[in-house]
Amino acid sequence: MDRKDEEADKLAAVGKIDAAWFRQWTRIWNLNCFRYQQVNMGLFLAGSMFNHSCEPNALYQTFSGKPKASFRAVRDVALGEELTVDYTTLSDPSAEARQRQLEDEKLFKCGCSRCIGPDFSRSMPCPKEGCGGVVAPKLTWLTWQCSKGHSFKDSELPVKEERWISALVIDHDLRHSKYTHEHFVATLLLALDTLGPRHWTVKFMASLLLENANIKCCRGITGLGSSMLCLLRCYVHWAEEVVPAEYCTVEFVGTVHHSVKALLALKWQKESAALARRCVRYYEGVWGPDDTDTVFLQMVSAKMKEATSFLEEFSWETLLQEIAASCFTDHEGGRDDGRIARARKELHHALESGCDPLSTYHMAMPLEPECPTS
Ligand SMILES: [Zn+2]
Ligand SMILES: [Zn+2]
Repeated sequence: MDRKDEEADKLAAVGKIDAAWFRQWTRIWNLNCFRYQQVNMGLFLAGSMFNHSCEPNALYQTFSGKPKASFRAVRDVALGEELTVDYTTLSDPSAEARQRQLEDEKLFKCGCSRCIGPDFSRSMPCPKEGCGGVVAPKLTWLTWQCSKGHSFKDSELPVKEERWISALVIDHDLRHSKYTHEHFVATLLLALDTLGPRHWTVKFMASLLLENANIKCCRGITGLGSSMLCLLRCYVHWAEEVVPAEYCTVEFVGTVHHSVKALLALKWQKESAALARRCVRYYEGVWGPDDTDTVFLQMVSAKMKEATSFLEEFSWETLLQEIAASCFTDHEGGRDDGRIARARKELHHALESGCDPLSTYHMAMPLEPECPTS
């Protein structure tokens, strides 16, 4: 009997209901419900039958203010192929985090193709000098395997630092108003520096900064264009090359869509057309040719036939320099006065001294730091 069964039994006793019946009912509720419009839960006659996959071929969507949900295929589905959706709701996309959530909330161990393969969301550069390969862990291995054949134990890689940075990164999402712009940029640079450009924490911080830049560009703040392009390149290439399953998520397409609008607001027609072209196929496939967002993206991509290289000119190796150079603007698009460099230095010290990562939010503010800085 698990914790939820015990709770059900207590409630059944209070309400004088048959305990076995109530326990079965709460199990169905807890294990089969979908989150419905953020705060509600919905149980669907057919929809609740979908099994989970971390690489699903369908997605679940609700509509604000409407008591309905829809399930759509996100890629071609073969005749007889099982339809699956993603049950997880995590910021951390690692196999370990997904397994933990599914075991805790849905009481099963996921054995999907993504969970049994190497976990590329945790990719790091191979520490062997001159190798240039990428290492990734696998749930069933006790080692990390390099794309060029080397293998490593946890203790040979910055796994402790990874945990520290992951906790900090997730906190930026949960309590974003606590952190300053320079702390956001410094955290992205720390992740890049420590875990390499393909690690999920880099893409995650890039997406948070991108979201913020998109809002500001649409409000007419124009100085953020070059950092937007840089963050976008990182975001798009991560989904295309590192974890392609991300390419087919509502979050990914939504971010790209907002970025197209932000680039248009900056009057960067060529760049917006290149980006729209990149994701319009996905919109056509999932939402159909008549959807207003699809029509909008088709219009933007058709407007400017001329090619632009901003998405093609990309190298993981130079990402750190590029981001460092382009993000050295303040949150209004003006020149940063050195606060980002200071926050970056303080963050490195905090990581080395092992202080609580969530206590670093005051950095680069005119306050006495709580963490040892030397
Ligand atoms: Zn899985
Ligand atoms: Zn190697």
